[in-house]
Amino acid sequence: MLRSILLALSQSPRTARFVIHNNLSRRVVRRFVAGEHLDDAVAAVRALNQAGRLASLDCLGESVATEDEARRAAAAYSGMFDRIASEKLICNVSLKLTQLGLDMSQPLCEELLAGIVNRAAGQGNFVRIDMESSAYTDRTIDICKRLRARTDSVGTVVQSYLFRTEQDARGLIAAGCRLRLVKGAYKEPATVAFPQKSDVDANYVKVMKILLTSGIYHGIATHDPRMLDATRQFATEQGIRNEQFEFQMLYGIRTDLQEQLIREGYRLRVYVPYGSDWFPYFMRRLAERPANLRFFLSNLFRRG
Ligand SMILES: Cc1cc2nc3c(=O)[nH]c(=O)nc-3n(C[C@H](O)[C@H](O)[C@H](O)COP(=O)(O)OP(=O)(O)OC[C@H]3O[C@@H](n4cnc5c(N)ncnc54)[C@H](O)[C@@H]3O)c2cc1C
Repeated sequence: MLRSILLALSQSPRTARFVIHNNLSRRVVRRFVAGEHLDDAVAAVRALNQAGRLASLDCLGESVATEDEARRAAAAYSGMFDRIASEKLICNVSLKLTQLGLDMSQPLCEELLAGIVNRAAGQGNFVRIDMESSAYTDRTIDICKRLRARTDSVGTVVQSYLFRTEQDARGLIAAGCRLRLVKGAYKEPATVAFPQKSDVDANYVKVMKILLTSGIYHGIATHDPRMLDATRQFATEQGIRNEQFEFQMLYGIRTDLQEQLIREGYRLRVYVPYGSDWFPYFMRRLAERPANLRFFLSNLFRRG
């Protein structure tokens, strides 16, 4: 219920205006977002790399309204690869297709994405296409497969809350795509997604096993200790080595578990979002965990 309300509010321009212009909420947001500028994010990635963690940079933004905005986002992403190379960071890039204009024009979006992926390929780097709501799943998968036919510098995400995901994962693996497995962060109807968390979790474990035995390097993205245990146990049973896959977590979340995985010798990539358009990302993080909402509200009331 609370999750649904928060996810609905994440689409509300009025709530966005209130939260974004509140200095106190901006401070709380810094727990989940590396900063407003690329320099902030680069500093965060440098620190993560020094602590033995890989990273993925995300310049926050989604559903742009003009071609100009989409082109500006694409230029920012292309520029990131030069910065990653010059700073010698161990870091790839994650992006959303709606930020590249998918809602306006699929050809424009594909053209911009192809440019970014070419730049990544030129530097031996990688672009992960984040998965947005189920309205975009088909198009995201089609676009990813088309580009994957030209280069292995691109991959995408599958969400275990969707009924269709096992089939999607098999199709993407057949196309050679590297995948990130997540539970899914959007508000989806019961016609397309498992309403019960236990089913989402069971499907997560099922798809994790498909990914780990596929012979392709994938990312298992979760902060859920039970999903982490299931993955470690399955990898051990199957003789899958630590360097054949990676765990992934979000910046600022369960840093205790992040440290533990590194100590145990696993690969861990941290998703590092930055930028001023942080509102929908922040609301999805609140929706995932009621304690985050309490933390946010108590900060507002204590200092407000
Ligand atoms: C690297 C990465 C990339 C992602 N990319 C996408 C994407 O492209 N598309 C998409 O739909 N979703 C994406 N997600 C979000 C994902 O779908 C889930 O919403 C999110 O990871 C929470 O699910 P969970 O697996 O951590 O388990 P949950 O069952 O939600 O949580 C398990 C436990 O993890 C901890 N936890 C989880 N979330 C939080 C939080 N926000 N704050 C503090 N603790 C928390 C808590 O201890 C909680 O009890 C991504 C997640 C990660 C880690």
